Amino acid sequence: MPRIAYVNGRYVPHAQARVHVEDRGYQFGDGVYEVCEIRQGALVDERRHLDRLDRSLRELRIRQPMSRAALSHVLRETVRRNRVRDGLVYLQVTRGVAPRDHGFPAGEVDPALVVTAKSVDPVKSAGAAEAGIAVITVPDNRWERVDIKTVALLPNVLARQAAAEAGAAEAWFVDAKGYVTEGSSTNAWIIDGEGHMITRSADRGILRGITRSVVVDVLASEGLELVERAFTVEEAKRAREAFVTSATKLVTPVVQIDGQAIGNGRPGAIALRLRSLYHKHAEIPA
Ligand code: PMP
Repeated sequence: MPRIAYVNGRYVPHAQARVHVEDRGYQFGDGVYEVCEIRQGALVDERRHLDRLDRSLRELRIRQPMSRAALSHVLRETVRRNRVRDGLVYLQVTRGVAPRDHGFPAGEVDPALVVTAKSVDPVKSAGAAEAGIAVITVPDNRWERVDIKTVALLPNVLARQAAAEAGAAEAWFVDAKGYVTEGSSTNAWIIDGEGHMITRSADRGILRGITRSVVVDVLASEGLELVERAFTVEEAKRAREAFVTSATKLVTPVVQIDGQAIGNGRPGAIALRLRSLYHKHAEIPA
């Protein structure tokens, strides 16, 4: 079954999907994106992802490529045409195509929209969660506006590559004061000896993950105590449990930080429980 991509108004074979050389996303990273989980054919937490997309676009003063209803239709149609039952849908909006010049293009330039979808084997991702992942820590050398979900991801790319070269699955960024900010594509959590669920406040220095927000709801329903504050790498290494959250990894236990085992070195029971409860709290159309 050939994969299909949506590119600026057309559904085209994935292998032939192209954007212009002067697309501002290609030349400047001048664009934003979202990744949404697809579960049993349904988009998980679409509303929250599209709300965050709206915010990212507003912050960068990029126009909406189309109405929410139309965008929602394109997402669904891309999922349908690719026959994805479990997987991910990716959408990207850039400021559009214009002669290369750093400042915004003069006049009305249409934003460019690309949507792709791919299948992910749910058994494989569940297996990864049951094994737990190793993370390394790297200095957070990103810009200040990491709250915007921009496609300019070079520090994240380098961090993730460093993780891969160290045999780890994720890299946690650490700020100048020694506090963990977040992962290269995940939010970071620890559980301390008293059972506090600790994650950095989303006010500054991190992306407000949709999965993070849903997990906050899960904690409330489970009577687990949320503490939104920064934690250090040393604290994380002493934690009872650690885990990451993202639409791609859902809740995935961390079993090693910089080569040091967390807890008993096996996935934490609370993290696995949060993972199992996750979809009860996410918004999924019937
Ligand atoms: N932080 C960063 C830097 C990310 O790229 C992501 C994934 N998009 C997340 C956190 C997690 O966000 P979400 O739960 O919305 O996938």
